[in-house]
Amino acid sequence: MSDPLLPNKTALTVNDGIPQPPSVNEEMVQRLKQHKRREPSVEEIIEGIKKGDRGLLSRGITLVESNLPRHQEMARTIVDQCIGYSGKSIRIGITGVPGVGKSSFIEAFGTYITSLGHKMAVLAIDPSSERSKGSILGDKTRMVELSANANAFIRPSPSAGALGGLARKTRETILLCEAAGFDVILVETVGVGQSETAVHSMVDYFLLLALAGAGDELQGIKRGIMEMADTIVITKADGTNIDKAQRAKSEIAAALHFMPCPPSGWRPDVLTCSAHNNIGIDKIWETVLKFKSFVTQSGYFAQNRNEQARYWMHQTIRDELNHRFYHDKELHHEISVMEKDVVNGKISSFEAARLLLDKYFWEKK
Ligand code: GDP
Repeated sequence: MSDPLLPNKTALTVNDGIPQPPSVNEEMVQRLKQHKRREPSVEEIIEGIKKGDRGLLSRGITLVESNLPRHQEMARTIVDQCIGYSGKSIRIGITGVPGVGKSSFIEAFGTYITSLGHKMAVLAIDPSSERSKGSILGDKTRMVELSANANAFIRPSPSAGALGGLARKTRETILLCEAAGFDVILVETVGVGQSETAVHSMVDYFLLLALAGAGDELQGIKRGIMEMADTIVITKADGTNIDKAQRAKSEIAAALHFMPCPPSGWRPDVLTCSAHNNIGIDKIWETVLKFKSFVTQSGYFAQNRNEQARYWMHQTIRDELNHRFYHDKELHHEISVMEKDVVNGKISSFEAARLLLDKYFWEKK
């Protein structure tokens, strides 16, 4: 029997709800369409970058990162026009295993140096961020405070391609950021594979972040990476970790003593810091400045940049030749035939390579 005071309202009755609002915001769709139509021209992007317009800088970087031939052509013009405005910066590479405190450090460091009036761009090379593998450095929740800082610009790692391609894109991005007025460029990478070497080949100064462990400080750091470092910073030197950090600092300093003096003539130093408590951050910036003045006076700063520019020219030639050779449609079939002949012992690997190369260059004549 139904309750006369609650007609039709039983637990089994479904009341009519309010009308479903549209799931698409029509106004927004129209705005996005208009926005899309107003794709800025190459000239607008170049002018925007020179004026420090971050939106147009981002557009320029997107073109640099794109693999579409049309975009690559636009990117070439942009980089070419910006190069004369680039170079006036200190380029800092930063590495360390995941969890060492890179993002916390960059946040504290960036906040400090922007408060001194500098403009800092943070770029990353993360070869793990190829689509299938997931990124270590691309997490959007990193560096929340710095992302909102008007004098900081954070760009995650380009997400496709092999390390060589990523590195070239990052190097071009450095030039665009400098043309946009960023005078401190931070290039971050993780301690995996060859990415440190790639970063080292595009920066003036290399910072290695290390954790204080229980007696295994040195085993945790690859020797090759330690040799690249201009400064090693022991992170998380706070609370109960202070003593451990000091011990690690002494051990690493002792180990560095036995390493050959690097070509810059700068003997790497070891520092400690706490990003959480903002301790030691100023000292690290002071060291960067000391390093810059040391290598500027000795002439190494300019010499190293020239050497890097030469290296990048040759590296680009190598990458491009490799790409063109292996993507040549006419050669595609012949390469696989030749592979079989090599495996069957009909021809030596060297002769096969020579014949294919000769054919490729003959075709291109
Ligand atoms: P990343 O993976 O190298 O970028 O490292 P994160 O910056 O994400 O830090 C990894 C962990 O270490 C996080 O839980 C941080 O809160 C912690 N951490 C980072 N810096 C400090 C620090 O200065 N002191 C302490 N006690 N913990 C820190």
